[in-house]
Amino acid sequence: MDLYEYQAKDLFARHGVPVGPGQRIADDADAAAAAAAEFGVPVVVKAQVKTGGRGKAGGVKLADDPADARTKAEAILGLDIKGHIVRRVLVTPASDIAEEYYFSFLLDRANRTFLAMASAEGGMDIEQLAVERPDALARVAVDALAGVDLVKAREIVAAARFPEAVAEKAAEVVVKLWETFVSEDATLVEVNPLVRDPRDAIVALDGKVTLDENASFRHPGHAELVDIAAEDPLEAAAKAKDLNYVKLDGQVGIIGNGAGLVMSTLDVVAYAGEEFGGMRPANFLDIGGGASAEVMANGLEIILSDPDVRSVFVNVFGGITACDAVANGIVQAFQLLDSRGDTVSKPIVVRLDGNNAAEGRGILTDAGLPGLSQVDTMDAAARRAVELAVT
Ligand code: GDP
Ligand code: MN
Repeated sequence: MDLYEYQAKDLFARHGVPVGPGQRIADDADAAAAAAAEFGVPVVVKAQVKTGGRGKAGGVKLADDPADARTKAEAILGLDIKGHIVRRVLVTPASDIAEEYYFSFLLDRANRTFLAMASAEGGMDIEQLAVERPDALARVAVDALAGVDLVKAREIVAAARFPEAVAEKAAEVVVKLWETFVSEDATLVEVNPLVRDPRDAIVALDGKVTLDENASFRHPGHAELVDIAAEDPLEAAAKAKDLNYVKLDGQVGIIGNGAGLVMSTLDVVAYAGEEFGGMRPANFLDIGGGASAEVMANGLEIILSDPDVRSVFVNVFGGITACDAVANGIVQAFQLLDSRGDTVSKPIVVRLDGNNAAEGRGILTDAGLPGLSQVDTMDAAARRAVELAVT
């Protein structure tokens, strides 16, 4: 889960990372003016969208007084920044900047370690810096067990060639950023720019944080960071039911057991769909091994409530949970949906293979569920589901 800048800075502040003297969130220009009046000093008005490059897109503006803050907020609210519409702005006292640096901690999957990246040349697009002047961007591996203490932080800051005058202060901030990264279970903590002010204080002027959702069970507080309004409603409904669901933009609903099988199902459906004017999968949904009737019913309910879906492909490879159990689950799911008043109204193609496939197919044949057909191979079933989506 990616956080908004203001949420990232809230986390920073809680872990002792200096972020400047307060911030307010405003969802209209009046509120932005009121916040500026409250601070009583020049402020910066910043678009809150989960994408970078806001400054270049006109989403970050300085304002001298409340009236100016109102004008700037009016200009920023409603902006489309890389497909993200600005609904809220952050208002915070403007900082004086002597220098801008870059700093991040991230999970380095390729090298199976954590990585610190830092540069004394911040402010600019870091991707561009990495390409054009790679030697200006220090990359220091961080051992997961050893972590980052003051000694390690000094090593990182020196590698990035931060000026001597602020090196020790920057190292202290780096330790705090590491504490944030670890104790919040983040996979990314990025500060660009990390600034040196005219009095040589170090301040995080921007913040980008990605939290590891696999760790959310040990962070009850993280739930309130979710921006429900910005979520896809189907994904939100699926999440509420603990389903592994991702909305896509096609017409063929997909349910499968196991992430690998579902991903290859997406490919097979997209391939079959090319012959039919570009029919595509409407979603990813992995109901996992050992799926109960209730999970099957919940999955079908989410997919059938998607107005884009014209047919559904249930692709199951029986393993520990054998096909007869899955078939019984499908039969019960139809009954469950019926009792909820959600009668299945779209064609469903089921492919059962693997453990007890014959028994499973027999159960579905005997049940004679309306709109449900069976096809025995994955390719042929994908093709049938696509055909049904067209007609
Ligand atoms: P981004 O473009 O989405 O990364 O947004 P940032 O928060 O990094 O802001 C972009 C740029 O605006 C920064 O690199 C700064 O140069 C400038 N900026 C942001 N906040 C302030 C501030 O408080 N004072 C001044 N003078 N400039 C700021
Ligand atoms: Mn930035």
